[in-house]
Amino acid sequence: MVEYVKGIPIMRPYIDQDNQAYWDAVKQHKLVLQHCHACDLYLHPPRPMCPSCNAQDTLEWKPSSGKGQIYSFVNFTTDRMAYPAFKLPYAVVLVELEEGVRLTGNTHQIHPDDIYVGMPVEIMFEDMDDDMTLYRFKKRDG
Ligand SMILES: [Zn+2]
Repeated sequence: MVEYVKGIPIMRPYIDQDNQAYWDAVKQHKLVLQHCHACDLYLHPPRPMCPSCNAQDTLEWKPSSGKGQIYSFVNFTTDRMAYPAFKLPYAVVLVELEEGVRLTGNTHQIHPDDIYVGMPVEIMFEDMDDDMTLYRFKKRDG
Protein backbone atom coordinates (compact mmCIF):
# COMPACT_ATOMS: atom_id res chain seq x y z
CA MET A 1 0.00 0.00 0.00
CA VAL A 2 1.35 3.42 -0.87
CA GLU A 3 0.46 6.42 1.23
CA TYR A 4 1.57 9.87 0.16
CA VAL A 5 3.43 12.61 1.99
CA LYS A 6 1.41 15.81 1.57
CA GLY A 7 3.15 18.66 -0.19
CA ILE A 8 5.57 16.55 -2.24
CA PRO A 9 4.51 16.18 -5.88
CA ILE A 10 4.16 12.75 -7.45
CA MET A 11 6.51 12.24 -10.38
CA ARG A 12 4.56 12.40 -13.64
CA PRO A 13 5.16 9.99 -16.52
CA TYR A 14 7.11 11.40 -19.45
CA ILE A 15 4.73 11.19 -22.40
CA ASP A 16 5.99 11.24 -25.98
CA GLN A 17 4.69 10.11 -29.38
CA ASP A 18 5.73 6.50 -28.73
CA ASN A 19 3.82 6.09 -25.45
CA GLN A 20 0.93 8.57 -25.91
CA ALA A 21 -1.62 5.81 -26.69
CA TYR A 22 -0.41 3.80 -23.67
CA TRP A 23 -1.00 6.68 -21.25
CA ASP A 24 -4.27 7.67 -22.98
CA ALA A 25 -5.54 4.14 -22.25
CA VAL A 26 -4.36 4.34 -18.62
CA LYS A 27 -6.35 7.57 -18.30
CA GLN A 28 -9.41 5.51 -19.30
CA HIS A 29 -8.49 2.82 -16.74
CA LYS A 30 -7.38 0.37 -19.43
CA LEU A 31 -4.03 -1.26 -20.06
CA VAL A 32 -2.87 -1.69 -23.64
CA LEU A 33 0.39 -3.17 -24.87
CA GLN A 34 2.23 -2.72 -28.12
CA HIS A 35 2.16 -5.87 -30.22
CA CYS A 36 3.98 -6.72 -33.46
CA HIS A 37 1.60 -8.70 -35.65
CA ALA A 38 4.44 -9.81 -37.93
CA CYS A 39 6.27 -11.79 -35.25
CA ASP A 40 3.50 -12.05 -32.61
CA LEU A 41 5.57 -10.25 -29.98
CA TYR A 42 4.38 -8.01 -27.16
CA LEU A 43 6.66 -5.05 -26.41
CA HIS A 44 7.16 -2.82 -23.42
CA PRO A 45 8.04 -0.02 -23.05
CA PRO A 46 6.44 1.35 -26.22
CA ARG A 47 8.80 2.13 -29.08
CA PRO A 48 8.68 3.05 -32.77
CA MET A 49 10.13 -0.23 -34.12
CA CYS A 50 9.83 -3.93 -33.33
CA PRO A 51 13.09 -5.05 -31.68
CA SER A 52 12.70 -8.53 -33.13
CA CYS A 53 11.93 -8.01 -36.85
CA ASN A 54 12.82 -4.26 -37.09
CA ALA A 55 9.50 -3.47 -38.76
CA GLN A 56 7.91 -0.09 -38.15
CA ASP A 57 4.52 -0.65 -39.72
CA THR A 58 3.53 -3.84 -37.92
CA LEU A 59 2.94 -2.43 -34.43
CA GLU A 60 -0.57 -2.28 -33.01
CA TRP A 61 -2.11 -1.66 -29.59
CA LYS A 62 -3.81 -4.61 -27.94
CA PRO A 63 -5.73 -4.74 -24.67
CA SER A 64 -3.95 -6.51 -21.83
CA SER A 65 -5.60 -8.62 -19.14
CA GLY A 66 -3.56 -6.64 -16.61
CA LYS A 67 -2.94 -9.93 -14.81
CA GLY A 68 0.43 -11.37 -13.97
CA GLN A 69 2.74 -12.28 -11.17
CA ILE A 70 5.48 -10.55 -9.26
CA TYR A 71 8.78 -11.21 -10.96
CA SER A 72 10.91 -9.13 -8.57
CA PHE A 73 10.48 -6.38 -6.00
CA VAL A 74 12.23 -3.88 -3.74
CA ASN A 75 10.99 -2.91 -0.30
CA PHE A 76 11.87 0.59 0.88
CA THR A 77 12.02 0.63 4.69
CA THR A 78 14.27 3.66 5.32
CA ASP A 79 14.40 7.07 3.68
CA ARG A 80 17.74 6.19 2.11
CA MET A 81 17.07 5.87 -1.65
CA ALA A 82 13.31 6.08 -1.08
CA TYR A 83 11.07 8.43 -3.04
CA PRO A 84 10.19 11.23 -0.59
CA ALA A 85 6.54 11.50 -1.69
CA PHE A 86 5.81 7.98 -0.38
CA LYS A 87 5.40 7.11 3.28
CA LEU A 88 7.60 4.24 4.43
CA PRO A 89 7.52 1.31 4.11
CA TYR A 90 6.49 0.82 0.49
CA ALA A 91 7.37 -1.53 -2.33
CA VAL A 92 8.21 -1.22 -6.00
CA VAL A 93 7.33 -4.37 -7.90
CA LEU A 94 8.28 -5.74 -11.30
CA VAL A 95 5.29 -7.66 -12.64
CA GLU A 96 5.45 -10.15 -15.48
CA LEU A 97 2.11 -9.94 -17.28
CA GLU A 98 0.38 -12.89 -18.93
CA GLU A 99 1.48 -11.43 -22.30
CA GLY A 100 5.12 -11.87 -21.24
CA VAL A 101 6.14 -8.23 -20.79
CA ARG A 102 7.16 -6.74 -17.45
CA LEU A 103 5.89 -3.53 -15.86
CA THR A 104 7.14 -1.73 -12.78
CA GLY A 105 4.73 -0.18 -10.34
CA ASN A 106 3.63 0.26 -6.77
CA THR A 107 1.21 -1.97 -4.91
CA HIS A 108 -2.31 -1.42 -3.62
CA GLN A 109 -3.28 -2.86 -0.23
CA ILE A 110 -0.37 -5.29 -0.05
CA HIS A 111 2.00 -4.80 2.87
CA PRO A 112 5.62 -4.93 1.64
CA ASP A 113 6.42 -7.76 4.08
CA ASP A 114 3.77 -9.95 2.41
CA ILE A 115 5.16 -9.65 -1.14
CA TYR A 116 6.86 -12.68 -2.69
CA VAL A 117 8.16 -13.65 -6.13
CA GLY A 118 5.34 -15.40 -7.96
CA MET A 119 2.53 -13.59 -6.12
CA PRO A 120 -0.49 -13.33 -8.46
CA VAL A 121 -1.45 -9.69 -9.02
CA GLU A 122 -3.59 -7.59 -11.30
CA ILE A 123 -3.58 -3.97 -12.31
CA MET A 124 -5.81 -1.26 -10.85
CA PHE A 125 -5.96 2.45 -11.62
CA GLU A 126 -5.88 5.56 -9.48
CA ASP A 127 -6.78 9.05 -10.66
CA MET A 128 -4.16 11.27 -9.05
CA ASP A 129 -5.67 14.51 -10.36
CA ASP A 130 -7.59 15.71 -13.42
CA ASP A 131 -4.59 15.17 -15.69
CA MET A 132 -2.81 12.14 -14.24
CA THR A 133 -3.89 8.55 -13.76
CA LEU A 134 -1.40 5.96 -12.52
CA TYR A 135 -1.62 2.21 -12.07
CA ARG A 136 -0.75 -0.10 -9.23
CA PHE A 137 -0.90 -3.81 -8.64
CA LYS A 138 -3.24 -5.53 -6.20
CA LYS A 139 -3.27 -9.14 -5.07
CA ARG A 140 -5.55 -11.54 -6.90
CA ASP A 141 -6.60 -15.10 -6.21
CA GLY A 142 -4.67 -17.80 -8.08
ZN1 LIG B 1 8.18 -7.90 -35.09
